[in-house]
Amino acid sequence: MHSFTRKLFLYHTALFAGGFGAITVEARTPTGTVSLAYIARLYSMKTKLFGKKVLMENKYNKVEIETNSRRAYINGVMVWLHAPCRKHGNEWTIREVDFKGSMDPILRTYAYAPKRMPRLVVLDPGHGGRDTGSISPKGYKEKEIVLNISYKVKKLLEAKGIRVKMTRTGDTYPNLDVRSTYAYKVGADLFVSIHANAAGASSASGVETFITASSGYDSTNMYGQDQDTFAFKNNTYDAMNSVLGFSIHSNLVKMSKRDDRGLRRARYSVLKHTRCPSVLVECGFLTNPHEESLLNSPSYRELVARGIANGVLGYFTLIKRSLR
Ligand SMILES: [Zn+2]
Repeated sequence: MHSFTRKLFLYHTALFAGGFGAITVEARTPTGTVSLAYIARLYSMKTKLFGKKVLMENKYNKVEIETNSRRAYINGVMVWLHAPCRKHGNEWTIREVDFKGSMDPILRTYAYAPKRMPRLVVLDPGHGGRDTGSISPKGYKEKEIVLNISYKVKKLLEAKGIRVKMTRTGDTYPNLDVRSTYAYKVGADLFVSIHANAAGASSASGVETFITASSGYDSTNMYGQDQDTFAFKNNTYDAMNSVLGFSIHSNLVKMSKRDDRGLRRARYSVLKHTRCPSVLVECGFLTNPHEESLLNSPSYRELVARGIANGVLGYFTLIKRSLR
């Protein structure tokens, strides 16, 4: 047994000792990677290669991974990998960090969930005051739209008995450090920053959700560019960031009916410094004519708010189940 094989073997045994019983399969892949065949065996999934995708499926879940790509789909929802799925010998592999920190927490939340129910949600309406955020061609301001959506999310969550606080309640600008510090001071159990997108091309459309990139890997929106890849306080929550991000993103896509741009990774200040599971949602593009009018309409804002609130409620339900 080569030393890297031994290390991987020990890691897998430790990781799955609870959920799967002792695993005695050797993974013959390079250190830091795990083969899709191996993952499929762990989940008792059937595997097939379909065009450029590897499909893995059991009775409960379906995972699709594009080969030589960072795109993966978990139960139909796009999740960006930190690094592309690559072939080593005969095996398609992904990085261990994407399996251990993302796919497995999403599929087996009970093995990662905190041992007590979350109590307080902090919502962070982006921008405010002198910082308007993006401005649409017709002059709609991101700071106003996201404050309105945040109030709708607050109302929906409070109707379900969940405590909610906001980093701003009016047209003010708490700086980015103040927002993370506020969440910590009030004892936030989860943090959701709410934004609207802008792009140079008016064709760009859809919704996307960000969580902190794992240490050592690029942000998905700055892939291959020079950037820091250090660990931050929020990386302690990598697994639950994925669970919260996936729950919110899948509900956001479902309710908004917009294009799915995926659950992505970025070291945004309000994510990386926040000391609880944290997510940043982009509710559509102010630079896309159709989405500009949607973002200006109360009915679309309500749908987006429902998507976010349902995602938070879904996260609460997953933790509640894991505590039984
Ligand atoms: Zn913004």
